[in-house]
Amino acid sequence: MAFEFTDYQPYDFANRRHIGPSPEEMADMLDVVGAESLDALIDETVPASIRQKCPLDWGPAMTERQALDRLRETADMNRNLVSLLGQGYHGTITPPVIQRNILENPAWYTAYTPYQPEISQGRLEALLNFQTMVCDLTGLDVANASLLDEATAGAEAMAMAQRISKSKKTSFFVDAQCHPQTIAVIRTRAEPLGWDVVVGDPFTDLEPANVFGAVLQYPGTDGDVRDFTPVIKALHGESAIAIMAADPLALALLKTPGEMGADIAYGSTQRFGVPMGYGGPHAAYMAVKDQYKRAIPGRLVGVSVDARGNRAYRLALQTREQHIRREKATSNICTAQVLLAVMASMYGVFHGPRGIRAIAQQVHQSTVRLAAGLERIGYEIETTTYFDTITVKVGAIQGAIVKSALDGGVNLRRVGQDRIAITLDERTRPWVIETVWRAFGGEFSFDEFESGYRLDDVHLRRSDYMTHPIFHMNRAESEMTRYIRRLADRDLALDRAMIPLGSCTMKLNATAEMLPITWPEFSELHPFAPADQAKGYRLLIDDLSDKLCQITGYDAISMQPNSGAQGEYAGLLTIRAYHAANDEGHRDVCLIPTSAHGTNPASAQMVGMKVVVVGAAENGDIDVADFRAKAEAHAGNLAACMITYPSTHGVFEETVREICEITHQHGGQVYLDGANLNALVGLARPGDIGADVSHLNLHKTFCIPHGGGGPGMGPIGVKSHLTPFLPGHPASGGDQGPVSAAPFGSPSILPISWSYCLMMGGAGLTQATKVAILNANYIAKRLEGAFGVLYKSPSGRVAHECIIDTRPLQQKAGVTVDDVAKRLIDSGFHAPTMSWPVAGTLMVEPTESETKAEIDRFCDAMLSIASEAKAIEDGKLDRENNPLKNAPHTVEDLVGEWNRPYSREEACFPPGSFRVGKYWSPVNRVDNVYGDRNLMCSCPPVEDYLEVAE
Ligand SMILES: *Cc1c(COP(=O)(O)O)cnc(C)c1O
Repeated sequence: MAFEFTDYQPYDFANRRHIGPSPEEMADMLDVVGAESLDALIDETVPASIRQKCPLDWGPAMTERQALDRLRETADMNRNLVSLLGQGYHGTITPPVIQRNILENPAWYTAYTPYQPEISQGRLEALLNFQTMVCDLTGLDVANASLLDEATAGAEAMAMAQRISKSKKTSFFVDAQCHPQTIAVIRTRAEPLGWDVVVGDPFTDLEPANVFGAVLQYPGTDGDVRDFTPVIKALHGESAIAIMAADPLALALLKTPGEMGADIAYGSTQRFGVPMGYGGPHAAYMAVKDQYKRAIPGRLVGVSVDARGNRAYRLALQTREQHIRREKATSNICTAQVLLAVMASMYGVFHGPRGIRAIAQQVHQSTVRLAAGLERIGYEIETTTYFDTITVKVGAIQGAIVKSALDGGVNLRRVGQDRIAITLDERTRPWVIETVWRAFGGEFSFDEFESGYRLDDVHLRRSDYMTHPIFHMNRAESEMTRYIRRLADRDLALDRAMIPLGSCTMKLNATAEMLPITWPEFSELHPFAPADQAKGYRLLIDDLSDKLCQITGYDAISMQPNSGAQGEYAGLLTIRAYHAANDEGHRDVCLIPTSAHGTNPASAQMVGMKVVVVGAAENGDIDVADFRAKAEAHAGNLAACMITYPSTHGVFEETVREICEITHQHGGQVYLDGANLNALVGLARPGDIGADVSHLNLHKTFCIPHGGGGPGMGPIGVKSHLTPFLPGHPASGGDQGPVSAAPFGSPSILPISWSYCLMMGGAGLTQATKVAILNANYIAKRLEGAFGVLYKSPSGRVAHECIIDTRPLQQKAGVTVDDVAKRLIDSGFHAPTMSWPVAGTLMVEPTESETKAEIDRFCDAMLSIASEAKAIEDGKLDRENNPLKNAPHTVEDLVGEWNRPYSREEACFPPGSFRVGKYWSPVNRVDNVYGDRNLMCSCPPVEDYLEVAE
């Protein structure tokens, strides 16, 4: 009898990459959910009135090999030359041990923002190292855990200065030597708030009595190193705030902002081992004097203790943030640049203070030789005191010199019509300098010149930095590898378990999508390199934009915003500019429902809009009557509404079109927060529903990993009437001001989203959406009875996420939502989103990537928690001394005395946990209040370390 072959398509399996449940599992799940088929479930869930008419289609899905070939071709269209263009972007060497073990390691890049401190101790320690390094380098007291980029950090510094300054003035002074994109981003930020920006020379043009603050660049964009001590003194004399934008590498040699008296310092840590990436992502830093620490924007890591009194890290002063303070928050920053801050901090650990100083000295000495050669040719160096940048007056032959250098493979920066600036870095080799000399007409060898220093005594740094033992560990690579591994092992990321965070869409970040980001043709381009060197990027950005337009129903995309919150800010600015162009500049009211994400009101406040809050109806939908009444009441001044779809209550509201119509009727524009696009792709399009502008979180729906709290990309899509008002940029044109330092935000992570679209195809993306909805409905069904699901559609379905009501546990058994979250850690899970949008509840979003087995493991853990709560309610477990209150349990709980009324077995191995390969939380429950009362935001003293460092 002949053997019968079954024909398998390898492609069918490959395409399952992103879809967790197998076809057989899906059939079982549909049974549980009680739906005929996946399509029937979708028909019951997504209102027919919003369904999109034609399917997404851009040809067949590619295999991994095909997609990687396409990415390779695209990368090869970029020309990776040596860029000496400076302006805050520098060549740098990522130590391979950091590239492989952090940047390319899912244990680091798939983690979430460290809101749950017990499962985030590794990245919190790395961030604390970052803060300590920044404080040391700047000579200031408290540093945050990163901001989005140098230019937005400048804008944040201005806003902070306005909050803390005792001066009542409304003008802000900006050093003309700030990088051009910084000046532009600061102008964008100041304009809607009614602040005047005065640009000039701080030594001759600044009138301290007329400003609430000033920012000074150090070294200046053209290279000058100036001592700002007298300027800062004068500012303080008039109660104005002194801000310095400082290059952290230069600070290894130069007098610090702290020593000059600055109140705030900020800058980019890109050159600490993070490739330029055509503009990003990189971590900006900000450091402030101790007295201003409560006003610092962004995240701040602090030291606290756990339930056993052991040291533990956690995010400090969270009450400043938008989740709680909403339109009164210190900023709208949510996603920041954690992965990049971790890389920069490890660069500090890897090199130590001596290594950093050696790099700084080498860069400076190369610059001295470069200058000596140019002087020998006969050029005058305008920059008298410099670190790594010199500006040379060349007159009419500027173009010829730039071209000649380009022919030799080197990009030089034009300054005005007759000067050239040259910035060197860690990667600069002798041939590069020789090429520059040749372009200027000199044929010398690098070795002909003495190396030396050209820094005056008054500018030199004499203080120590990075004295903490962490920056002095034995740097054998074995130690470095193990340190990075040790920290990673303390954290729970997607490489160990599902992270069912509602609204955050923690889905698979496929390996094939990640590979291209470290290819030099993508990672090493300078953002201001000539456009014809970035043709691959252009193609990628255009094609991805095109696909995003198809997906959203919008007409144009701006890739500039570096996070969802920045997208909101950019989108609202676009609306604002549109109104102004129609002589409706007075429109300044923004309607925002109570269920909105905290970034919505915080962003509205940043563009000077007045937030009017709209209530929710009984079923969780926006209260249409209230919405209509408020739109009418503010009709004359209505600028916009900000809605989220499907709503953060996890349902597709039937009334969304009506909300859009009411807004338009009264002259407003509809901002639709696109964070929940994972529930829409292929099924419905914001642009068809009636929205005018949305941001898309590419780090949610489009597979860019969260990186432990960043990077992200929050591009905005708009309808054509808003296209002329999208952000522009000094380097790429456009009428509007920029919202980010680089024209395309963080382009080096766009290959991830692009490959996702290529490998899924339109049909694959649509299938992903359907399965995400199936997975959420399956969870809602499995937990039914044990937990209530707060909101459902009239057909009894949820969207791609659902809100689990844990409040009855509190009423009946005194079990808080926190207790539930911490007990999930014992089962090896990251908690769902806690207490948002409804206090005391959990919002669960499984995404399409999770298999039935993993979802079942999660449901088992949740059901076990419900029965523990029942045992408390029934008096079978103590109300205070029980596994929920004492969670999470650690290895410490396995040894020593045990006097609890439940077993160690029950404590440490609840349903869902693995016996072998169990995730152990490194600390017991962290005390947040203690940490905020005893605020400490840099590495604890040595003695402490020795004690814990066994
Ligand atoms: C995540 C999220 C945001 C903010 O996005 P970031 O990238 O973190 O700034 C805004 N709105 C909603 C509904 C979100 O879930």
